[in-house]
Amino acid sequence: MSPEFVIVGQGLAGTALAWALLRRGRRVRVIDRGRSDSASRVAAGLITPVTGKRLARSWWWDELYPSAVAFYRAIEAETGAPFFHRRPALRLFATEEERDEYNRRESGVLRGLVRAADVGAGFAAPFGGFEMSDAARLDVPRYLDTSREYFRARGVFVAGDVSPHDPPPAEVVVFCRGFTTDSDPYFGRVRFNAAKGEMLTVRVPGLCETRVVHRGVWLAPLGDDRFRVGATYTWEPLDSRPTVAGRAEIEAKLRAFLKLPFEVLDHRAAVRPVIDAGFPALGRHPTHPRLAYFNGLGSKGSLLSPFFANQLAAHLCGAGAIDERVDVRKLL
Ligand SMILES: Cc1cc2nc3c(=O)[nH]c(=O)nc-3n(C[C@H](O)[C@H](O)[C@H](O)COP(=O)(O)OP(=O)(O)OC[C@H]3O[C@@H](n4cnc5c(N)ncnc54)[C@H](O)[C@@H]3O)c2cc1C
Repeated sequence: MSPEFVIVGQGLAGTALAWALLRRGRRVRVIDRGRSDSASRVAAGLITPVTGKRLARSWWWDELYPSAVAFYRAIEAETGAPFFHRRPALRLFATEEERDEYNRRESGVLRGLVRAADVGAGFAAPFGGFEMSDAARLDVPRYLDTSREYFRARGVFVAGDVSPHDPPPAEVVVFCRGFTTDSDPYFGRVRFNAAKGEMLTVRVPGLCETRVVHRGVWLAPLGDDRFRVGATYTWEPLDSRPTVAGRAEIEAKLRAFLKLPFEVLDHRAAVRPVIDAGFPALGRHPTHPRLAYFNGLGSKGSLLSPFFANQLAAHLCGAGAIDERVDVRKLL
């Protein structure tokens, strides 16, 4: 039987949308060209409620986080594979001003998200820090591979390269292609403000820390003394080549708070699909309603994709509207 929905791209966007449509009992085909340097293949999968120097509450947190937890837990139950780990994260203050800012916000905008923390023995933290209880980490490769195997076993996944000039036959074709530079006659007017990111895998012998630690960069435990550290933000050139400067920046930021010596094991880079100040873009094409779009997950694909995949799936099935703040039509 031919699919009702073809999804082009099996990164975080396409995978979440496929699950959301399958749950609605729809016939789906997912096609991916299998590049190992896509953003989702490099992503650390961190979900963090308080971010940035200004200690901002992550936007739409109260809607997005419960949606992500329910979504990933349901797929874990369906597939039997654990890949979503809820665990507190630690934020160390870089300066006295940061600590003062925290003290001002703690009982206001950050209420319910933060608490006092033990900063741990391995870190230099003269200004202290705080803990975020509702943080989580998506093991992105495991989630994507588990989903792919599940889809493949049901005839949902096929490998392939789909030209945006020649959409395959289906009731709806949804492009979930992440950052691309190739020409696209339908959604090519969407402007990316994409940001390259680099990330290291390091070994830190003797560092006993199970929380993700944030302080300029994040340090995420993988087990066996190995940790991911990242990430950089650069805007030129937008490619997936690791650079000497990127590595030096991450190493310097890590040395600023890690007391122990470390060894670099791996170094990777990819481009984050940032479109509209970090807001996603989704929905049908205004004049070609058979074509739809889901992109712009920026640096928060793990948190954003479940909520917005559900919204898009409901819309494509005739059961809801796209929030106008994220509707791709305003960008075309
Ligand atoms: C260094 C770094 C660290 C990050 N850390 C985090 C983090 O900690 N937490 C977090 O939530 N996010 C993080 N991100 C952001 C996250 O990676 C993105 O938000 C997310 O991966 C975007 O997913 P996507 O599916 O839109 O795009 P992509 O991951 O780029 O997926 C697009 C898919 O489409 C396929 N494709 C493209 N064109 C075609 C075609 N013509 N035919 C067939 N297939 C096609 C590609 O092969 C690819 O698989 C990080 C990103 C980087 C670079």
